Amino acid sequence: MAGTEFDYDLFVIGGGSGGVRAARVAAGEHGAKVGLAEDDRYGGTCVIRGCVPKKLMVFASEYAHVVDEANAYGWNHKQGEFDWTRFRGKLNEELDRLEGVYRKMLKGSGVDTFDARATLKDAHTVALSTGETKTAKHILIATGGHPVRPDMPNADLGIVSDDIFHLNELPKTMLIVGGGYIASEFACIMNGLGVKVTQYYRGAQILRGFDDEARGLVAEEMIQNGVDLHLGTNILEMGRADGADSGPIRVKSTTGHENDFDVVMFATGRDPSSRNMGLEDIGVSIGRRGEIEVNEYSQTGVPSIYAIGDVTNRVNLTPVAIREGMAFVQTVFAGNPTPVDHELIASAIFTQPEMGTVGMSEEQARDQEEVEIYCTSFRPMQTAFAGKPNRVLMKLVVSKKDRTVLGCHIVAPHAGELIQLAGIAVKAKLTKEQFDATCAVHPTMSEELVTMRNPMRSA
Ligand code: NDP
Repeated sequence: MAGTEFDYDLFVIGGGSGGVRAARVAAGEHGAKVGLAEDDRYGGTCVIRGCVPKKLMVFASEYAHVVDEANAYGWNHKQGEFDWTRFRGKLNEELDRLEGVYRKMLKGSGVDTFDARATLKDAHTVALSTGETKTAKHILIATGGHPVRPDMPNADLGIVSDDIFHLNELPKTMLIVGGGYIASEFACIMNGLGVKVTQYYRGAQILRGFDDEARGLVAEEMIQNGVDLHLGTNILEMGRADGADSGPIRVKSTTGHENDFDVVMFATGRDPSSRNMGLEDIGVSIGRRGEIEVNEYSQTGVPSIYAIGDVTNRVNLTPVAIREGMAFVQTVFAGNPTPVDHELIASAIFTQPEMGTVGMSEEQARDQEEVEIYCTSFRPMQTAFAGKPNRVLMKLVVSKKDRTVLGCHIVAPHAGELIQLAGIAVKAKLTKEQFDATCAVHPTMSEELVTMRNPMRSA
């Protein structure tokens, strides 16, 4: 398409989930001439150092208890050792394959790719680290985010989530700092793989912002599964044990403990990757944490420049970045201004057990209106039969006024899969009575979502 005025109709900076989708759809479905620059690996955080390798590690770690449970069912299996090197090799092969798929998809859509870092020179010009300069009618920034360490002495002795996939060997002991998604997920993963895991969280309960009852059960189950969780605890100071150049890291906690750990991992949040790109110089507004400020159409204050995904720090999830990318293409290349709907996004935390959640927590909902809480917690059939104490939770937060299900919270194996489906009903704003009109699927854990007759409490 591109007229003579510009090299490209669209230049995308960042080859992660959001950027690649926008580039492919603009080029492949709307005939736009598109260039894309990526200075690391194609696929971005989700594919290379986030969701995908993390989920494969979740799968690996969950096999740990399969032998026990199978034996309780009458099998006679022997527990083997986990071979990290073999797993890591296979993981790397898979990531190479996926990166190849991403490159191929871009090529197949006719997108020109540049393995280079891009900075902005003006509202329509991008300078590449290869020395080239490209002009474009529209520029889309999809550079994602990066993990941050706390500002404290010796923080560089700790690793961050990007590093965990590259460990040469599994540590025997590990301290994970933080209580968010990443900290809690990796505490469970590493615990499952046989690492002795300690987790420090500075607040009163992990997974701040989620439903209190649900996060309480996740924490309880994590402790029961072997994670040594310390709440109200942070690192006071850390350094190499006995001042050595390598070896264990000695950590003093704010609660007076002193322990050595083979690895310390900070999962203390992620910041948007917007710095040193020349954005401020050309008038793009950047917020306190580095987020690019955009309107509902993902447009910055400079009309030709848009931004999507984690760099805008709205809802930092892959499917949201992809939707923002699609909405951007609709707005700019299909003449159909499309705001992104950020309401009622279901998500899952891949702890063990998983937590799936959509809509308001009990605490958020009761601040807004009177609600009824339908909730049940029980030992599911499969693990109860194997003599395990693990519990699950199914919870609905219902508006007293119009009976709409305002929130659904599930803590259970495969809660991520379950909440995807429950999310449709909550997004459609169905009422408790419409849930109840759905016949149960028996025997399942999730049948409880349509069979809870009486509220546990009103709030
Ligand atoms: P979060 O912001 O979720 O959690 C950061 C944690 O670190 C919080 O518990 C926070 O405590 C704590 N923290 C922050 N600063 C410090 C400090 N200086 N010292 C000690 N603790 C500190 O970030 P994550 O890195 O876990 O995840 C980033 C984002 O990635 C998530 O918000 C999510 O959007 C996305 N993500 C999604 C996943 C999924 O969908 N399954 C999986 C992984 C990531 P406090 O609560 O007190 O602020």
